[in-house]
Amino acid sequence: MAQQTLETTCCIVGGGPAGIMLAYLLARKGVNVTVLEKHRDFFRDFRGDTVHPSTLELMYELGLLQDFLRLPHQELTGIGGVFGDFVFTAADSSMCPRIASLWL
Ligand SMILES: Cc1cc2nc3c(=O)[nH]c(=O)nc-3n(C[C@H](O)[C@H](O)[C@H](O)COP(=O)(O)OP(=O)(O)OC[C@H]3O[C@@H](n4cnc5c(N)ncnc54)[C@H](O)[C@@H]3O)c2cc1C
Repeated sequence: MAQQTLETTCCIVGGGPAGIMLAYLLARKGVNVTVLEKHRDFFRDFRGDTVHPSTLELMYELGLLQDFLRLPHQELTGIGGVFGDFVFTAADSSMCPRIASLWL
């Protein structure tokens, strides 16, 4: 395996959502950041299937939401089910329509 020497101010091991967000916030503040990720890509099934209202709110605060919403997606305002004549609501985000959950 080829070896490479890098110099950085801050090294983050793990390019999951936490590592990438930390790297992004530090880089925005001008910190020289390197992220080490053992996988070649970000295509894991469980990342971003649903993007929750709290995550969308964070993207809004960071000024990223408009670009993010240009990606193909479907909006959800609630999740529920019906068993016979029993109807139930498992989640309801209709009170915050601007930041409904997404299926990407
Ligand atoms: C089945 C399932 C479905 C989910 N669905 C959703 C969903 O739809 N929406 C949602 O918001 N959340 C979902 N989650 C939760 C979400 O995946 C986690 O909250 C999130 O991935 C946690 O991010 P993290 O950065 O803390 O950790 P991780 O995502 O685990 O990231 C850690 C990263 O570090 C890397 N790493 C580990 N060791 C090393 C090493 N030694 N060197 C280099 N790299 C290393 C790993 O490869 C990984 O990429 C789901 C979780 C599961 C299990």
